[in-house]
Amino acid sequence: MEIETKCIQSGYKPKNGDPRVMPIVQSTTYKYDSADYMGKLFDLEAEGYFYTRLANPTCGYVEEKIADLEGGSGAMLTSAGQAATLCAVMTIAEAGDHIICSSAVYGGTFNLLGVTLKKFGIDTTFVNPDDDYDTLAKAFKDNTKAVLGETISNPSLDVLDIEKFAKLAHDHKVPLIVDNTFATPILCRPLEFGADIIIHSTSKYMDGHAAALGGVIVDGGKFDWAASGKFPSFTTTDESYHGVVYAKDFGNQAFITKARAQLMRDLGVTPAPMNAFLLNTGLETLHLRMPRHCENALAVAEFLEKDSRVSWVNYPGLKSSKYRELVDKYLPNGTSGVVSFGIKGGRETAVKFLDALKLAAIVTHVADARTCALHPASTTHRQMTDEQLIECGVSPDLVRFSVGIENAKDIIADLDQALDAANA
Ligand SMILES: *Cc1c(COP(=O)(O)O)cnc(C)c1O
Repeated sequence: MEIETKCIQSGYKPKNGDPRVMPIVQSTTYKYDSADYMGKLFDLEAEGYFYTRLANPTCGYVEEKIADLEGGSGAMLTSAGQAATLCAVMTIAEAGDHIICSSAVYGGTFNLLGVTLKKFGIDTTFVNPDDDYDTLAKAFKDNTKAVLGETISNPSLDVLDIEKFAKLAHDHKVPLIVDNTFATPILCRPLEFGADIIIHSTSKYMDGHAAALGGVIVDGGKFDWAASGKFPSFTTTDESYHGVVYAKDFGNQAFITKARAQLMRDLGVTPAPMNAFLLNTGLETLHLRMPRHCENALAVAEFLEKDSRVSWVNYPGLKSSKYRELVDKYLPNGTSGVVSFGIKGGRETAVKFLDALKLAAIVTHVADARTCALHPASTTHRQMTDEQLIECGVSPDLVRFSVGIENAKDIIADLDQALDAANA
């Protein structure tokens, strides 16, 4: 099936007499006729649900759909994107291990790895994703267990050379994790370029309506944990889970099964079935919304690029973008809906501009149907020092503008009047 059809048809498949629309299974638990059968469920020997913290039919249908959209072997929904990143990293790495991460990642990821997981003994080196192979290879250590980057980074909009990162990771026998939140599987499927694990904040385009927080991890199913020799937690018995050996017992679902059995069990970062239902409704129109986001964002970026009140514009879809070649390769159908730009006059003028917007709302969010704007230096990134800001590609005058699916003329008219007001 083509991706558009998968958006609608993958996942829930009603049988004779079943509800046409995916039901919301609002139940924490499930009834069985014998203790013996339930015992088999706990040993992962029988198929079935036993407690919604670990799995739920509604969430399961949506997991199937997203795995299908990304071309993976399985998926696990989480309560938020942050939980997806946390579980993806912690399924692979433990205290004493090391991660390599692009410095151009979401602020929450930067903090999770750089501060919180560091306290738990997992160390991260942040690298400039645009560096060449040899420079990046120097960041690897004996205890490096994974590499992480974002297809299109939030908010700096750097485009990841996925094949370069996959080669780096694989040459060092570790997996590549790609956060594909901004691109979505409609614009790019990183597994096709060698990535091993995909994570998303589904709170963004996938839900698309800013209605429900969520995250998802997709297992690419191709990384050979046993052959690598670096992952004893995949190749030796898990005494905490009935003696299973993930790499041996679960084939191409070793990673996602381990994530669920160990981390969903222990951390409880479970999505609500209602949120999975909302996410599924969003996914049904993802293939229609993404092209409009791309089209509108390109129109906005081209308008800003010509405007004398604007000092710089960053949109990977612009002809002038330094990522032209990577865009042609990885994102030929568009580069998503987020544009960032600098306003002449710096920090102060940027704040005035935001206050003057009428159609675009000031919100701590991006990537939904409604146009919105944010000034990271005074909000999401305010805990960072100036050096850290510049290191992750966020200058003090940067406005992050998330272009919605309204008519582009109205969005541009709003920008125009707000730029006037900021300069009055
Ligand atoms: C928003 C975001 C996250 C975090 O997701 P939440 O759903 O807010 O927890 C992670 N990565 C990227 C790229 C994001 O944009």
